[in-house]
Amino acid sequence: MKKGELIDHAKQCYDEDQVKKLERAITFASTAHAGQKRLSGEPYIIHPIITADTLISWGMDIDSAIAGVLHDTVEDAGVELAQIESLFGHDVAILVDGVTKVSQASAEMKKYETYLPKTKDNLSKLLIAIGQDVRVIIVKLADRLHNLSTLKYLPVEKQKKIARESLEVFGPMADKLGMGRVRMQIEELAFSYLDPIEYKKMKIMMKKRLGKSTRKLGKIRTEVDNALKQHSINADINGRVKSIYSLHKKLAKVDGNIDDIYDLMALRVVVEKKEECYVVLGILHGLYKPMVSRIKDYISTPKPNGYQSLHTTVITPAEQIVEFQIRTQKMHEFAERGLAASFHYHDQKITKAYIENRNTSLPTNLQWISELQEVVGKLKEGEEISKDQLYIDLFGDRIFVHSPKGDIYDLPEGALPLDFAYLVHSDVGRSAYSFRVNGKIHAFDKPLQNGDIVEVVTKKTSQPKQSWRQLVTTTHAKNKLQAQLRQSSVAGMISTATSILRRKTY
Ligand code: MN
Repeated sequence: MKKGELIDHAKQCYDEDQVKKLERAITFASTAHAGQKRLSGEPYIIHPIITADTLISWGMDIDSAIAGVLHDTVEDAGVELAQIESLFGHDVAILVDGVTKVSQASAEMKKYETYLPKTKDNLSKLLIAIGQDVRVIIVKLADRLHNLSTLKYLPVEKQKKIARESLEVFGPMADKLGMGRVRMQIEELAFSYLDPIEYKKMKIMMKKRLGKSTRKLGKIRTEVDNALKQHSINADINGRVKSIYSLHKKLAKVDGNIDDIYDLMALRVVVEKKEECYVVLGILHGLYKPMVSRIKDYISTPKPNGYQSLHTTVITPAEQIVEFQIRTQKMHEFAERGLAASFHYHDQKITKAYIENRNTSLPTNLQWISELQEVVGKLKEGEEISKDQLYIDLFGDRIFVHSPKGDIYDLPEGALPLDFAYLVHSDVGRSAYSFRVNGKIHAFDKPLQNGDIVEVVTKKTSQPKQSWRQLVTTTHAKNKLQAQLRQSSVAGMISTATSILRRKTY
């Protein structure tokens, strides 16, 4: 990958001024990294150029691509951040600064031989870096991907460290951002270095097993294709093979028997409209016998990272077990690219809105990012937030719940009804009187589950109580409740004071 190729690629995506800015960044970075070499022996500049190229191929906006070019100049070439800001603007500087901080946090994590950021300080650093601008983590993922693909030049011990950190921190992060394809790329590369013997074993096992079924699957594909055509449904049908790493993880669950894994190869049916997904499901169930317990509707209840699809596993007349994944083009795009899809250069409006108001313009399934930014705000103000709380905010699993109207809200796993009420609106939280979940009365201290429909019964006279402190788990709800309690105690004091004064005047 050379400079010229990067610019040619950029020309297909950005306007002339943007490409010029990118060119200036390449010249600047080339000077900064002059004389430096990668361990592969290549000039250092190759690395930032490939990082930027990856970001462009993910469809990222121009500032992210420029940050990709400049991402190592502060940390590895001694460039001042102020210089980047004056040459390339505030937003690029924020991104470069964020990536530098993530690298520093992760370097410190390695020092303590722990890969998950368990010490609070590192965790805060990581949070602040990401919280400044979520694009930071996307640039970091592109950087990591190239480092993983050149891992063979590093000493074995370092290879393992980077591979493990990638599997434990960056893979899950990509997953949390819904970036399915990147997650898989990171996992495959990292796993092949972390456990090369197991990786090879799995690969051979997979190949043997797939050889048997690929031909049969081709027949099913044609069968389904014809059936869909008869119903005038326009669909793309593709085979998708399970990744080696996810096969490895799943095998551990089924005691190592590959015949117990039904989704080794799945058929993906991509249609235009959401309603068609359900029609396709019906057609498939008409053709083959479904395994009822394996039918999953991730369209009405998306996975916590926003993934949407219908899944079903069927048994063909020839006794072959096949998994189908049915989704729209848009769902497919999101499943593959996740958060990156929100910053596409085709739609600069979204990126602009995000830069202007970093809290409100993200898709609802990424609300946790806004929450994260709220936590970061508190950290910057010097507020003490417990390590556990930080951990939940960064790596905790999320659940989706619905309002009776069908709006979707996302909360950390273990969230209580009051967390939901405060997420809807602080006034709804304040006047919460009781809760109905899926139509039934629900106690204040009973956690919500993924897919719950939560109704808050409010009473105007209802007031937040001190005891509620134990009944909220999110930083957001805690902040709102605390502010209300403070207010009401001030109001209480004033009204007591007034009545005392009144009594005195009489
Ligand atoms: Mn780098």
